[in-house]
Amino acid sequence: MTKCCICGCKTRLAFKLPFQNLIGFNEKVYIQRIRICDKCGFIFTENPLTQEQLSIRYKEYSKYEFDDENHILQESEEYQARSYRQKQLIERNCNDIESIFEVGAASGFNLGLYKGIKRYGVEPSAVNCKLAKKYYSVEMFNGVFEEYINMPQNEKYDMVFLSHTLEHIVDPYAFIRQCSRINNKYVFIEVPTIDYKNIKAPFDLFCDEHVNYFSLQGLTSLMNKAGYSIVDCNMVFEPKQTLPAGLPAISTIWEKKDSISVYQYPMIQTKDLLKAYIKLNKAAFGPVNRIIDIIPSDERLAIWGAGNHASILLANTNLKNKNIVKIYDSDVKKQRVFKMCGLPISAYKEDDVINGSVEGILIATYSGQKAITKILEKSGANCKIYVLYNI
Ligand SMILES: [Zn+2]
Repeated sequence: MTKCCICGCKTRLAFKLPFQNLIGFNEKVYIQRIRICDKCGFIFTENPLTQEQLSIRYKEYSKYEFDDENHILQESEEYQARSYRQKQLIERNCNDIESIFEVGAASGFNLGLYKGIKRYGVEPSAVNCKLAKKYYSVEMFNGVFEEYINMPQNEKYDMVFLSHTLEHIVDPYAFIRQCSRINNKYVFIEVPTIDYKNIKAPFDLFCDEHVNYFSLQGLTSLMNKAGYSIVDCNMVFEPKQTLPAGLPAISTIWEKKDSISVYQYPMIQTKDLLKAYIKLNKAAFGPVNRIIDIIPSDERLAIWGAGNHASILLANTNLKNKNIVKIYDSDVKKQRVFKMCGLPISAYKEDDVINGSVEGILIATYSGQKAITKILEKSGANCKIYVLYNI
């Protein structure tokens, strides 16, 4: 896959990012090949996980799944605040919508905010679908969008809602065309962007599940080609957010039109944005490496965090040469299914520190660093704790 799915032009390889021991991935190293179309500004992964692999991951181990007992508690304030903010943008621009359709509708909280109009969602997690009905009276199709769109149907919606979805879709042009089939008027899209840079951890935007990387130029090329004109665009920073892969973002509204109105504001060329983005992220490994280099090579080290970020650290720093003896992750789904560095993934056990089988713990997650540090402080863990980021 080397041609641009939007304009059909040849693209060039801009960067290769290695991941090591990516959970759920058979080979030890996965090298994400990032390509750019210099003509329309679209950035994509040449060799993404297959749609099938991704579907399994979303079904088996959704980051956005909420368990029943803790449902309300787990509905994070960040997710709620995001939904309210997005609704404001929609209300400001589209006061004529009578129906809304969301792809990747998570717990249904977001759709639940749109009271008095028809709402429907597609969501791969069966647990989420059940809970959406129970707590928010929102009906959802349990499955992935491909399954939904290929069923015979005539329902159309005034608004198609895509929040942090498009960056996961292998062919976003085909996807938007499919959305257009069930859409009367507007599409809401929020995606992470490289137009502004707010780098918290090296290459935090480049995760294994992200197959596209957007700039305003790239997104505009995509939507114009699919027959949509821009209505409004906001840059979103949310400094308190702890999910670095999603920010900064562009929050946009598009309207289906026969003739495309051209975006009249100057846009920085994506190739320049990407070049700067790669340079800054490479530099961000510097301080991380300085901390990892302190760790004695014979120290019995546990890594806490078996996600995307740990895989990036293993592949791009000296971490792989350390004496890794344990992998901790609080996600029970990861514990059940996956291994990392040949080690089983388990919940943190204080006993490991007390009996000396673990002498040091490296926190390999940006978003979870604060919470994990708190747990370790509370338990009074008598071992070295390596914290990588200033949060
Ligand atoms: Zn292109």
